[in-house]
Amino acid sequence: MKERRLPNIQKLFPSEDGNPQSRQMMMRFIEQILTGVDVLKNPDGVNLKGEKNRTGNFYNNLIQNSEIPTASIPLEEVNTELLKLLHDHPYHTKYFLTNILPMASIPGILGMIAAFMVNGNNLWDVYGPAGAEAEVRVISMMSKLIGYDPMKSGGYTTWGGQGAVFSGLRIAIAKFAPEALQKGVPGNLYAFCSDAAHYSLFKSVEATGIGSDKLIRVRTKSDSSMDVGDLKIKMEEVIARGGIPIYIVATTGTTDAMGIDDLEQIYTISNQVAAQFGLPRAHIHADSALGGFFAFFQDYDFFSNPLGFKDEVAEALRAIHSRMRHLHLADSLCFDFQKLGQTPYLTSLFLLKEAADLKLMDLHPDETPYVGHRGYGQYHTGYTLECSRMASSISIYSALLAFGVQGYQQLLAQFVEVNLAFREALRSEIPQAEIVNEDNPGIITLFRIYPDGSHRFQEEISGSCTYKEIERNNKFNEVLFEMLGNQRDRIFFGDTKKHLLVPTKDESYTPLYANKVFIISPYTQVEHVPEIVEHLKSIVTQVYEKYAEASTISRR
Ligand SMILES: *Cc1c(COP(=O)(O)O)cnc(C)c1O
Repeated sequence: MKERRLPNIQKLFPSEDGNPQSRQMMMRFIEQILTGVDVLKNPDGVNLKGEKNRTGNFYNNLIQNSEIPTASIPLEEVNTELLKLLHDHPYHTKYFLTNILPMASIPGILGMIAAFMVNGNNLWDVYGPAGAEAEVRVISMMSKLIGYDPMKSGGYTTWGGQGAVFSGLRIAIAKFAPEALQKGVPGNLYAFCSDAAHYSLFKSVEATGIGSDKLIRVRTKSDSSMDVGDLKIKMEEVIARGGIPIYIVATTGTTDAMGIDDLEQIYTISNQVAAQFGLPRAHIHADSALGGFFAFFQDYDFFSNPLGFKDEVAEALRAIHSRMRHLHLADSLCFDFQKLGQTPYLTSLFLLKEAADLKLMDLHPDETPYVGHRGYGQYHTGYTLECSRMASSISIYSALLAFGVQGYQQLLAQFVEVNLAFREALRSEIPQAEIVNEDNPGIITLFRIYPDGSHRFQEEISGSCTYKEIERNNKFNEVLFEMLGNQRDRIFFGDTKKHLLVPTKDESYTPLYANKVFIISPYTQVEHVPEIVEHLKSIVTQVYEKYAEASTISRR
């Protein structure tokens, strides 16, 4: 028989006894990754260095060439392979302006590492006590921030802002039709959100079996916020047809324009409608995944301005906050920490005003033979859609401690300041560009350009353009999308194909395309704005030149 030398498989695990050799070995591997990433960094562009051509047959080749190795590969070599994955990867330098895709902060990453070192299962405190403790703490912290009673509120970390919208809907169904859990959803339940809402609710009505035909889209105003008058009309129409409004998603910070629905009005109107028809009020979920973080200004004194923000920055923050201060009126809401909370994916927090609502969805002890409902353990999340759960609350906890209220205030104010500077530079340097979310201060600017160089946004939203005209303007902006997209390794801009749904002369609605600048990197500063706008200007100029050329050819 041949002698077989197998490696010590225990070496692939952290030590059992805390011996320093094992720790140092692990530190070396971590250092190899950190150093490897540092070597790839390039602050003059967006992507990490390294060669990678992800076009053509790239994914097909991966399928053909991927196989599990028979023998163990040494960790140094595995790390080398991991680092190759990162080649040419987008990185959050000052030129990263594309969307809500933030950098993971050091405290966010350390929180993850702490969680991984014990790898507890957040399903049950007997298996994951650290996660349970951190989850209870961050729910209390965020509840106090927005003005929920922390002794009554509840929640859990979940799969994204989308998971939070879904969780809210599950509760709404359980509130209005408790028997639905056994018998399936009745056919008369309706959900509402604005035209500008995230597609999370669309997916959720599909997945819960309510059906997307029962998702009612409420019109938006030109500031991308919900037209609450239209909400009232649409709820009354549904009720008149025998339907029951069970769920309203109020988007408090739309992902494109940062429009903020007026929660106070939505709360008042939905109470009125409920009283008028003798129904319980629909469950209101504030989709504050992105915008909720401006609640960090809840106690900021804008008059004495202790952090010394510039007047226009303080004014913008005050305007945003004046719409966020009603968050506590929502029955549930979300903080997507992986967005403005500066933690890694996935770290979304679903918050609920009344923790008691969770009982509506909890599993019966008979259904959970392995966990919970024992004499030991006090925290069992049988109400979440997930069974096993990562303890992402530990990362959230870490970030909340490390940033503190002031750290978040400072960072958000910086984003807002850069965005204001960008808008100003855009107006003076690229007069053809028209800002189309002017009413929404914040960290996002949307703008359109028009073939004749004039400003036509007001005309477009007034309903006096034909579908064809808007389509032509959209196509013109799409040329800019493409040209900016091709140079995204230099400066990474965003875009959207659904800014506002506007009425056309032909009596249909059509979406507006818009270019997007999203201030999200802590490294983007006001002093970088001129260079960014200069780059943008050169590409906008090329779009007009191409257009002029094409028109000359077509006139020949
Ligand atoms: C990002 C976002 C979502 C989706 O969140 P995920 O974390 O990507 O699932 C939903 N709603 C709003 C308003 C968002 O900004």
